[in-house]
Amino acid sequence: MKRSVLLYLLFAAPAVHAHDVRQLGAHVHGQATVDLAIDQGRLELALQAPGIGILDFERPPANAGEQAALDSALAALKRADWLTLPSAAQCTPLHRDAHAEGFAAAAATPATAAGKHAHAGFTAELSYQCANPAALRVLVLSLPKAFPNLHEVIVNTATPAGQGRTVLSADNLRVVLAP
Ligand SMILES: [Zn+2]
Repeated sequence: MKRSVLLYLLFAAPAVHAHDVRQLGAHVHGQATVDLAIDQGRLELALQAPGIGILDFERPPANAGEQAALDSALAALKRADWLTLPSAAQCTPLHRDAHAEGFAAAAATPATAAGKHAHAGFTAELSYQCANPAALRVLVLSLPKAFPNLHEVIVNTATPAGQGRTVLSADNLRVVLAP
């Protein structure tokens, strides 16, 4: 996954990189990770999610129904209506993108041949420019509601005021940023 410069800079501290989230195979089923950085009115978010969590399989779609589920999940991730920013912050989307990795037939082959479970997952990258970033105090990430198989979403936040970590579940969708 391509990481933005802002996310790279603000998450440079080793503590946040307990494991390399870019590597498929290091994920926990049902658990997604979000890195969220805000600086100078620019908000950037990178999501890493396992296939099992967004969908209920991690292999090439076996039929039209599974392909439709995959397409629909990608569209939902990219639409980003699972992220609610305070309207007072006046944020405008600059970029929203989502990718599926490991669901193509060819990509699944090497790990399967080695006798290991082949993982697959999703990434999404969002960026916004906010005219009033001071209003960015509480964000709502409704990923566990949008994707009920996603039991836990770990959100690492970084702002010039400091870093934070919030674990979201269906009962708690709020991320409170360091003041
Ligand atoms: Zn997996």
